[in-house]
Parts: sequence; structure tokens; C-alpha cells
Amino acid sequence: MEITGRTSLIQFPGVGEARAKKLEKLGLTSAGDLLTWYPRDYEDRRKIYTIRDAPPEGRVCVTAMAAEHPRLSRIRKGLELVQVKVVDDTAALHLTFFNQSYLERAIKAGEEYIFYGSVEVQGRRKTMVNPIFERVDRRSFTGCIMPVYRLTAGISNHLLASLTRQAMTCAGEAPETLPQHIRQEHSLAAAEFSLKNIHFPEDEEALSLARRRLAFEELFYLAVGLSFLKDRRGREGDGFPLSPRPKEDFLSLLSFAPTQAQSRVMDEVAADLTSGHPMNRLVQGDVGSGKTAVAAYAGWLCAGSGCQTALMAPTEVLAEQHFKSLTQLLAPAGVRVGLLTGSMPAAEKKRTRAALASGEIDFAVGTHALISEGVAFRRLALIVADEQHRFGVAQRATLAAKSGVGTPPHVLVMSATPIPRTLALIIYGDLDVSVIDQLPPGRTPIATYVVREDKRQRMYGFVRKQTDEGRQVYIICPAVEENPDAALPGEESPALNLKAVKTYAEKLQKEVFPDLRVGLLHGKMKPREKEAAMSAFASGETQVLVATTVVEVGVDVPNASLIIIENADRFGLSQLHQLRGRVGRGRHPSHCVLITGTRSREAMERLHTLASTTDGFKISEEDLKARGPGDFFGNRQHGLPQMKLADLAGDMRLLSEAQEAARSLLARDPRLSHSENRPVLDRVRQLFADTPDIFN
Ligand code: ADP
Ligand code: MG
Repeated sequence: MEITGRTSLIQFPGVGEARAKKLEKLGLTSAGDLLTWYPRDYEDRRKIYTIRDAPPEGRVCVTAMAAEHPRLSRIRKGLELVQVKVVDDTAALHLTFFNQSYLERAIKAGEEYIFYGSVEVQGRRKTMVNPIFERVDRRSFTGCIMPVYRLTAGISNHLLASLTRQAMTCAGEAPETLPQHIRQEHSLAAAEFSLKNIHFPEDEEALSLARRRLAFEELFYLAVGLSFLKDRRGREGDGFPLSPRPKEDFLSLLSFAPTQAQSRVMDEVAADLTSGHPMNRLVQGDVGSGKTAVAAYAGWLCAGSGCQTALMAPTEVLAEQHFKSLTQLLAPAGVRVGLLTGSMPAAEKKRTRAALASGEIDFAVGTHALISEGVAFRRLALIVADEQHRFGVAQRATLAAKSGVGTPPHVLVMSATPIPRTLALIIYGDLDVSVIDQLPPGRTPIATYVVREDKRQRMYGFVRKQTDEGRQVYIICPAVEENPDAALPGEESPALNLKAVKTYAEKLQKEVFPDLRVGLLHGKMKPREKEAAMSAFASGETQVLVATTVVEVGVDVPNASLIIIENADRFGLSQLHQLRGRVGRGRHPSHCVLITGTRSREAMERLHTLASTTDGFKISEEDLKARGPGDFFGNRQHGLPQMKLADLAGDMRLLSEAQEAARSLLARDPRLSHSENRPVLDRVRQLFADTPDIFN
């Protein structure tokens, strides 16, 4: 078969419908996709040991001959062992394979193989369980540096590596999009070389050259694209000029005095709004720092000038909550607050839309539906994006058309995810940043504990103690249903055993807390049911709320004093921090219990990091380190291209080189209209596909 970049994966030997579907989950459908599915790590399998010298820690390659015909034994239904002794001239090694009965025939006595696995010493025997192996004369994944890919259930690293190796034949097709002079100036390797060596590096040096080129490329296109965006913003011109209003009038609506930090940020926002230029401000403040009050203030200012505000929340649950609290706060001041979410009954939606278009609603709260097609405003002067730190630069393109009068609305992005300042500047271009670096007084820090399964009963006792004192409790589970396609035995990704939230909630109600009121909230419930579940918890009617991460952002129930997170190792650190922020919002001492059955030391360390600090910045940095910025910003929906290799936080040198290269290229050819720069333009267009009008 001749493979080109477009060859679909289902044509590859060994890929049937089922596997093709699973690969598709990773976004892999063609040979070309494989080439840009860069490894997340590498395993050095170059050194080959004798059995005697093979160290007992980590996985190693050993060359040995099968000394006998493999023995197959069926221990019980679903458990089959294949055992075989292999030898070299130094010692013997006893291999065991679980549930791979076909190996009985695949391994032949007298043949030589390379085995890759961990050697264990049991008494005087050396053993290896489930090694990967190849015949000595047909090696491709031993004796080399092996890529380690991100996987999904049912797709092993071995499979992905062998598909990628086959796809490599089309690496030569990859067009060289970086202009020759840039490659020369910055000593960048060629495209084909880089693709080959990022997957199957000849040696460390080749890998680092490959990585450098590909990371540079990502940063370079990002820089070019952002520069177009900034350029466009420069041409945006005037913003809504709003009239100042006495701040005291707003503060008198609040039931609390603002913190100094809140007050300062309010002033910054007011200065922007009355400046006559479009505001683009990111307000960063840790969970519970009181960002909502700042948004309310901004909306109140707009209403005073007869203009509208749209506040977008990431979930409907949160939109409802904002709607309620903002109505309570602002209605007395004559600000008309409205709600628009995707799942409202059609008639109600229609009414709300009409009210937005006619200007009868001053402050609209909703989900993304708010800025979707078909929603018209009369005078939309302010857009607030709550807890959507990725809402940035890219969306601004589409906003001007939304305001109803052709003037671009002011944009206020609120986030509890602290982004290192330099990073924020790159991502948001010329966005201004305000930080609420102070929590309202009287908060007690949340005590966090990492516990193992054996403490489960004690933990339930703790739940009861809290409810006895009149407090409420969240119990968070990772998934709605048992993961249907957990990895098969013997494959590399471990089987997942996620708590099924529904059955778990039932069990808790029936067996553990028959006398307490246990509620349930998950993403697959109907919006009405979600709303009912949330308000039952908010009003104290339910004492224990079993939920998925729908409660992750923003939800505010001050009487909740304990949050338990099941399978805590399945979550990212920032997410755990967000979840933890659901408690500690009132006067009561609060607790967070992270329960885990993980055996990974790394995972335990991450959890202990969280237990040891409540500093959001520190946590987010750890998260960046662990997961990479690709995850952090990598959501194509939000318009910016995904960084696969470049580490925005770590590669500052490379980043400034790439920015310099972009600047000098654009200085010579600002619209990239020269034919030689055409490939760059095409590539940027493709990467910023979600921001089509950046080139206008
Ligand atoms: P976040 O920054 O996480 O969005 P919220 O705006 O939801 O935080 O505020 C968290 C809680 O703290 C809310 O119940 C809010 O009413 C309360 N709050 C906000 N600011 C203050 C303050 N200055 N003093 C006392 N309570 C405050
Ligand atoms: Mg909030």
C-alpha cells in the first residue's frame, strides 16, 4: 500500500472499524494526523542487557533465547497464563504473560528475541511480566529511543507507534512552510527531518533539533496570527463612552464592604469604561475572591448610561446562580436582569430575545448562547466572560457586530485560573490585567487531606459530623457512567474504575446515609432537573450533594463546609483547586478530602501539592508543568491554535526568537502578500480557522 498524508487509518493493516473509531477519539483519522500526534515522552530502549546485568529497576531490554515451548495454563475463566523460560549465556529469565494465549504459538523454542520489561527478582529467580518482545532479526521497537504517546482506552502505545512508523513514509510530503531565510537565521532543521526525529529520534541531538524546529514553528505561527489580531484591534477605533457614576451608590447595594483589592479593580474597570476606548481587561482572582461584585459594578455602570451588559457563564447551573444573585443585588437599583440559556423553553427564549433586542433587559446573564447567532442587542456595551480564561483575543473579532450599533463592546474576562503574567500578555495580546489578590475577611483556610480507600468509613463519619452541625457536603465523582471502554487486560493504559455517580448516590442514600437527604447532580440530567437539584442544595433542603464536575466553577453555597473528591487522581490540579473552592465560602471551618486508590507516586505527589497550598498561582504553575500549556489553552473552540510542543511558560527564549522572526517577516511583508510567503499565510489561516476574520 502506498501511504500518503491523506491515507485513512482504516486502510492500515490491523485497523478495523472499532480501532478506527477509537483513534478518531484522539482526533486521528489519516496518516498525516499521526505525524503531528507528537509523543508526550520517550523511553530509552537503546541499551541491551544480559540477563545477569539487567538492573531490577525500570524497564530494560534483554536479548535471550526461548529455552522451551511456552506453557499455557487456564487458572480460571478469564485468567490464562503463558509461561516460558528464556536464557542467555549468563542466566535464565522466567516470563509470564497474562491473557495473551496466542503467545503460546508465537514464541518458538530456540529462537532469539529482545524482551522489554521490568526484571524482578523473586528469591533466586529472575522474572518478567508481560514484556514487549520482538525477534532479534526483526526489531523495530527495541534497541532504539521509543516514542510514548497520549493514548485512549483500547489503543496501546505499541499500536500507535507501529502505525506512526508506517505513516513515516509520507513525512517527505510535508511541505516546508517556514521560509528558507528564517530557517537559516534561526538554525532550524528541515521539516521532514524534524517529523522523523520527533517520533523516532536517532539520538538525543536529533531529537532536540527536531523539537526545537517544531516548537519554533508553532510559536512563529502563533506570533504571526496574534500580530494580525492586534493590528486589527488597533483599527477598532472608539468604544462606548460611558458616563461616570458615584461608586458609593453601587457600594450601598452590597451587603458587605468590598475588599481593598476589589475596590481597586472596580476603579480600574470604571476608568476603562469611561475612557472612550474599548476595554479589554482580564480580572484574575482566586476562587472566592469576589469577582462577581466587580462584574455587577461594571454592568451597573453600563445600565446608568442606557447600555446593555451580557454576562456569559460556562455552565447553565452557574448562569442560573448569577441570574438570581444579580437580580437580588441590582433590581433595587432599577437594573433589569434577564436570563437566556440554551435549554430554556422556546417561548421563553423568544420573549427574552425580544427583550434584549428592544433594550428592556439591561443585564443579560446566560451561557455562550448569549453571543450566538440570532441574538440581537439594542445597545450592548459590555461583555463579561466569567470563568473562561480562554475567552480572549479570538472572539473579539466577532463582537463588534453584536453591539447593535457597530461599536465594539467592552470586554471583561474573569478567571480564577491564574495565568503567569507573561503568558497572559502573549495569549491576549494587549489585554490589560487586574488582580484581586485578597480574599474577603473572615474566611478560614480549607484544610485538605489526601486519603486512601481504607479511610472511607471514617470519611463517611466525618460527613455525618458536618451534617449534624447543620452543614452541607459535596461529594464529587469523575464520571456519569462506568467507563464503557476501559483498557483491555494486558494493554498499556490501566483499566479505569470510575465511581458511577448515579449508582453511587443511590448506594449512599440507601446504605450509608438513609436518614440524610442526598441529592444528585450531573451533566446528563435535563436542565430543569439540574436547576432543581442545585436549588435544593442551595436552600439546604439536600444535605449531601453527589455531583460530577458541573459544580466545578463558581457555584456558591456558603453553608457547605466539606467537599469530598472521589478518584481525585483523575483530575488536574487546577480543576481540584476549583472544586475545593466550592467550600470555605462562608464562616464555617471547611475541609476538602481527596480520596484515591492510585498507586502512582507522581499522582500522590500532585495531590499532596494541593493539600499543602491554597495558592492558586502555585497550583496553576504545577499544573502547567504536569500537563503542558497545550491543555491549558488548547481548546480550538476558543480560537487560538493549540501548542503541541512549545512550552509557552518554559520556552521563553525560543518564543522571543519566534516573535522576532514574525516581526521581521511582517515588517517586510505586512499582509503576507508575496508569493514566497504564501505558505505562511495559508498555515496561519488554517491554524486560526476559528477566527476567520483576523485577516480583514
Ligand atoms: P469568585 O471570585 O470565586 O467568583 P464570588 O464573587 O462568587 O467569588 O464571591 C464569593 C462569595 O463571597 C460570595 O458569596 C460573595 O457574596 C462573597 N463576597 C464577595 N466579596 C465579599 C466581601 N468583600 N466581603 C464579604 N463577602 C464577599
Ligand atoms: Mg465566580
